[in-house]
Amino acid sequence: MTTQQNRFDTLAIHAGQHPDPTTGDAIPAIHVTSTYTQDGIGGLRGGYEYSRGGNPTRTALEEQLAAIEGGAAGISFASGLAAEDALLRAVVSPGDHVLVPNDVYGGTHRLVRTIHGKAGVAHSTVDTADLDAVRAAVRPESRVLWVETPSNPLMKISDIPALAQLAHEHDLLLVVDNTFASPALQRPLDLGADVVVHSTTKYLGGHSDVVGGAVVVGHGRDGKGGEELAEQVRYVQFAAGAVSSPFDAFLTTRGIKTLAVRMQRHSENAQVLAERLVHHPAVARVLYPGLPDHPGHKVAAHQMSRFGGMISLDLAGGEAAARAFAESTHVFLLAESLGGVESLVNYPSAMTHASVRGTEAEVPPSIVRLSVGLEDVTDLLEDVEQALDRV
Ligand SMILES: *Cc1c(COP(=O)(O)O)cnc(C)c1O
Repeated sequence: MTTQQNRFDTLAIHAGQHPDPTTGDAIPAIHVTSTYTQDGIGGLRGGYEYSRGGNPTRTALEEQLAAIEGGAAGISFASGLAAEDALLRAVVSPGDHVLVPNDVYGGTHRLVRTIHGKAGVAHSTVDTADLDAVRAAVRPESRVLWVETPSNPLMKISDIPALAQLAHEHDLLLVVDNTFASPALQRPLDLGADVVVHSTTKYLGGHSDVVGGAVVVGHGRDGKGGEELAEQVRYVQFAAGAVSSPFDAFLTTRGIKTLAVRMQRHSENAQVLAERLVHHPAVARVLYPGLPDHPGHKVAAHQMSRFGGMISLDLAGGEAAARAFAESTHVFLLAESLGGVESLVNYPSAMTHASVRGTEAEVPPSIVRLSVGLEDVTDLLEDVEQALDRV
């Protein structure tokens, strides 16, 4: 039996996981079905009619997502971008305006700029770590303040409680992309955000074997948001169809069960690497919120329980050094994505963030991004140092 009173690690393992009533399966079956037999027309057994509208394996994941983020409802999608798109469709209309961070994830920037821009939704980019800049950027037609903290890939920290207050003064919906921290380290809804989005492809899935996304809606304020907003997002999902498959939902649920222990080890390994790499002559700056001289360290220490597994390095030798480094590691695999048990190195300006070249969200060419995995930290250190020695 799990209740809202259970603590995070317990919820992550048990929420939504109801043993099968007939067989007692401790792990619920993967419901590989597109449709459900009806006992007479409209006689649905579990409320399920067709798997675009709902599937028991997806429901199990959605209950788990709501529980670990402390939300009113979780809604599981085919990808992180599908989740973001459905949320935006539910909350903005032509003529509205959306504020996004100036170093927002490239795919989010592209979604807002090209897909929603074409649908008549305006956007502007702003440094969400600077409250005065955010306040100055709000327009009468602004509806949404979008935040990523830590940000991808510049690892900027934005103050969630302060942004929540600012957003609500202007009647904006505060959306936090919690992909980098995960709810094991940071719970935006508890800090005042209205909605959390995830690429569950990353830490929640945790094993680089599934693409998925989620929207978790908070409990609402002043009678707005909460279950009503969740219904609007569910409607978009049902009508537009970007659902996660039963097998993908199962893999994500399985990943979430070990999230807390993984995030602990990701954070420990990243802290060791960050502290060591600040001394390397090839590294101009280590961007990691766990370092005391990171500009967001204080805010991060307040709103995160640990600092996570993502580090970016600004290499002294610029673009050539960054490219050479990214192609010289052995344990760190050169690949897009992040958050898996295996360490990855990414060159954002030509890989994950290539789509924002030439825009305000462009990433400097001297930056490399590390997703620090769960391997032995000495192997990781040796690998990074031998690659830095080559640049
Ligand atoms: C990967 C990522 C996304 C997009 O998610 P997909 O699952 O790739 O669609 C959104 N936000 C952040 C921060 C990401 O890292």
